[in-house]
Amino acid sequence: MPPLLPSPFLLTVDSMALRCYSFARTGEDAAYLAFDIPLEQVEQGLAALKTLGVGGFNVTMPCKTAVAGLVDELPPAARLIGACNTVTVSQDGRLTGHNTDGIGFVRNLHENGVEVRGKRLVVLDAGGAATAICVQAALDGAAEIAIFNRDDEFFANGRHTVEKLAQTMPGCKASITPLEDGAALADAVQHCDILVNATRVGMKPLDGETLVDPALFRADLVVADTVYNPRETRMIREARAAGCQAAVGGIGMLLWQGVAAFRLFTGKDMPAQEVLEKFL
Ligand code: NAD
Repeated sequence: MPPLLPSPFLLTVDSMALRCYSFARTGEDAAYLAFDIPLEQVEQGLAALKTLGVGGFNVTMPCKTAVAGLVDELPPAARLIGACNTVTVSQDGRLTGHNTDGIGFVRNLHENGVEVRGKRLVVLDAGGAATAICVQAALDGAAEIAIFNRDDEFFANGRHTVEKLAQTMPGCKASITPLEDGAALADAVQHCDILVNATRVGMKPLDGETLVDPALFRADLVVADTVYNPRETRMIREARAAGCQAAVGGIGMLLWQGVAAFRLFTGKDMPAQEVLEKFL
């Protein structure tokens, strides 16, 4: 009988139903509840969850970075990303922060027949999801990551990611360029293997928008989106129409990051296909 899971909790509203369904399907005597804890009260929130003896919890924006600064342990990937979306709690109350977003992204590509090892990626954005993707792709052997970001407050974050990758994984060549440099973006897309949109462009209310001219799409290019609402963004639709090698939407990333978190909580496989069909 596993000792865990009085109840995995999460800090803000997420997919409670699919977690509870997965617990029931895998025979876990556990519950999954949602708590909306404001960013300025995250520290008290963590103390409360510890006091309640929860087995683990998920964290959503905007609390991911704050929680990474408050946990007792951060494995290397989460430390490099600087944010966590999943926290496990040991029996003596120690919190370990994990980040499964990048894992979910890479697994989603894998499920679509695409591996990142040795590949050149163009990643649009330097925000939270993008950072997790860049770090995980580098850890998984990507050869090159070219980040493009608007010249906004996230640009410095992207520069920091490039520095971290250069220090810790020099085998992966990383760079950052302003998204406004259309010629550089076109050149990078023409010379990459996998193009990733990790911005909010394509997501409601920016649905119908795209950052990449579909004239750049070609048969040996993989195009991936992190956006999952709508299921098919304009970029993914245009990549499909252009006959790209693969056009991979963000719903699978959402699914597989959840699968990775479920394994951290329970040591078991979440019934991924059932969850996808019933809940996503
Ligand atoms: P974030 O707030 O950390 O970053 C958002 C980024 O979008 C910022 O860098 C911002 O500059 C950029 N952006 C917004 N509007 C833009 C525009 N018009 N042009 C260019 N850039 C623009 O958010 P995040 O958590 O990193 O989320 C980013 C995207 O990733 C969202 O679409 C989100 O839905 C998606 N996401 C998906 C999953 C998944 O499991 N599929 C998980 C996390 C995030």
